[in-house]
Amino acid sequence: MHMPIQDPVAVHDAASDDDAVLIRNALIAAGIEAYVSESEPQAESHQPQVWVDRSDLARAAQVVYDYESQAWERRANQQATENLEPIDVVCDCGQTTRFSALQRGTVEECPACGAFLDVGEPDELEDWGTPEDEEAAEKEEEDTP
Ligand SMILES: [Zn+2]
Repeated sequence: MHMPIQDPVAVHDAASDDDAVLIRNALIAAGIEAYVSESEPQAESHQPQVWVDRSDLARAAQVVYDYESQAWERRANQQATENLEPIDVVCDCGQTTRFSALQRGTVEECPACGAFLDVGEPDELEDWGTPEDEEAAEKEEEDTP
């Protein structure tokens, strides 16, 4: 179904191999034949490029553009969600109060007893299983005899 590429042109300089493969997959999903290659094997910086046929270049550029806008939006949305996660604070009196993320780092009063509450203990919030932490933990387990 796909036409072989006869006149290859690089449509995208990828930041990484993963990036290049994702772009190539997006192009193929859009019906555009594409492949990944390194630009210059002798070059010091490893920068894979995504190649398409010259006749597909305009369409391919649009797919790459859409892909990158979506990737940027996904990152922005993810960041916004993380930053707006509400913060539950448990008071010594047992009352749990939910504060908005905008109040992170402020001191608020417990609505039940009026005690001062620190919103968003930085240590607790940052230690909740980031992927890096989980990988590190797994590695430690493997290393343990
Ligand atoms: Zn309280």
